[in-house]
Amino acid sequence: MLALAALLLAGGPAAADDDPFAEARAAMVKAVADDAARTVEWTGKERLSPRVMEAMGRVPRHLFVPPELQGLAYENRPLPIGYGQTISQPYIVALMTDLLEPQPGDIAFELGTGSSYQAAVLAELVAEVYTVEIVPPLAASATQRLAALGHDNVTVRAGDGYYGWPEHAPFDLIVVTAAASHVPPPLIAQLRPGGRMVIPVGSPFLTQHLLLVEKGEDGALTSRQVLPVIFVPLTGGH
Ligand code: SAH
Repeated sequence: MLALAALLLAGGPAAADDDPFAEARAAMVKAVADDAARTVEWTGKERLSPRVMEAMGRVPRHLFVPPELQGLAYENRPLPIGYGQTISQPYIVALMTDLLEPQPGDIAFELGTGSSYQAAVLAELVAEVYTVEIVPPLAASATQRLAALGHDNVTVRAGDGYYGWPEHAPFDLIVVTAAASHVPPPLIAQLRPGGRMVIPVGSPFLTQHLLLVEKGEDGALTSRQVLPVIFVPLTGGH
C-alpha cells in the first residue's frame, strides 16, 4: 500500500507516463457513453457494445489530428484534417462502428479514409480493413500513420471509393464516411449476404441521415434511418 502510494506520488506507473493523453481519452469515452444515452430515442441503443467502447479507449486519437490540434483531440467533436476534410466526431465513429456489429473474423470496407481514425477503430475489432480515400495526400499520410502505429491489418488505396474494392469483396461490413445522395450500387453488390453497411445519405452540407442497410442471406435489402448527421460530401466522378 505504502509502496503503491510512493509510486503514484512519483508520477504513477510507466504506462501512464507513456501516455499523457490517457485521462483525456477516458473522458472522451465517457462523453461518447453520455451521448449514446442521450440519443437512445433515435438509435434504440442506450449503450454501445463494450468491445467498441474498449477500442475507442485504445486508439490514440491525438495521433490522427494535425499536431496543432492535439490539445482538442479528445473533445467529442469533429476536427479539420486539411483539404477541407474532417475527422468525424468520436460519438459518431463509435455509433457507426457499433451499428456494424463487427466480428473478429470480418473483412471490412471503408469509403473515405480521411485521417484513418475510423479505420483504426474498426481494425481493433475485425480481421482486415480495406479503405479508399479520394484525396491522394490524405491516403499517403494515412498509410504512413497506420504503419507507424502498427495497424498492419488496414490497407489504404488512393482512388474513388464509390466503386468499392472488387478484388477484396465480398465484405462483411461496409462503412461510408462521406455523405452520398444514394447508396452506391457497387457497394451493395460488394456486401456479403448477411452483411451490414452504415452510410450517411442526403444532400451535401444539409442534414443527412445515417442509414443502416442490411443484406439478407437471400440478398434482399432492408434499411432504417438511425440519426440525423452532417458529413462532408462524397465526391468523385460517378
Ligand atoms: N473516416 C474518416 C472521415 C473522413 S471525412 C476519419 O476517420 O477521419 C470523409 C473522407 O471521405 C474525406 O477524407 C474525403 O476526401 C473522402 N471522400 C469523399 N468522397 C470520396 C470518394 N468518392 N472516394 C473515397 N473517398 C472519398
